[in-house]
Amino acid sequence: MAYTYDNENIFAKILRGEIPNDTVLETEHSLAFNDIRPQAPLHVLVIPKGKYVNYDDFASNASDAEILDYTRAISKVCAMKGVAADGFRMISNAGRDGVQEVPHLHVHILGGRDLGRMLN
Ligand code: 5GP
Repeated sequence: MAYTYDNENIFAKILRGEIPNDTVLETEHSLAFNDIRPQAPLHVLVIPKGKYVNYDDFASNASDAEILDYTRAISKVCAMKGVAADGFRMISNAGRDGVQEVPHLHVHILGGRDLGRMLN
C-alpha cells in the first residue's frame, strides 16, 4: 500500500522545530512529548522522526534500527514516568475509522489513574 505523507502536519512541524513541544525523551530515531490536551495524568505521545503516516506504514517501511529505537523509546517513557508497575494504555489511532487527527504515526501512552475498561 502506498502512503502519502503531509509535510505540513503538526508533528512534522514539531520535528522541524517550528512548533515548541514539551519533550520527555529524544532518541536517535524517536521523540516523546506531552500531549497538549492530556486525557490522563500521564499522556505522552511517542513519534518516530521518520515520515510515517501510521503504524502500518512504519512497520512496512521503517528500518530495523528505527523500529527497535521506537519500540524501546515507548518502553523507556513508561519506565521514566513510573507507570510500568501500575500499568498504562498504549493507543495508536489510524485513518478515518480510527479517527486519527495528526497523520504522522504516534502512540499515546496514558496512565496515572484507573483508565477503565476499553473493550468488553
Ligand atoms: P490522534 O487523534 O491523531 O490520535 O491524536 C492526536 C493528538 O495530538 C491529540 O491527543 C492532540 O491533543 C495532540 N496534539 C495536537 N496538536 C498538538 C500540538 O501542537 N502539540 C502537542 N503536544 N500535542 C498535540
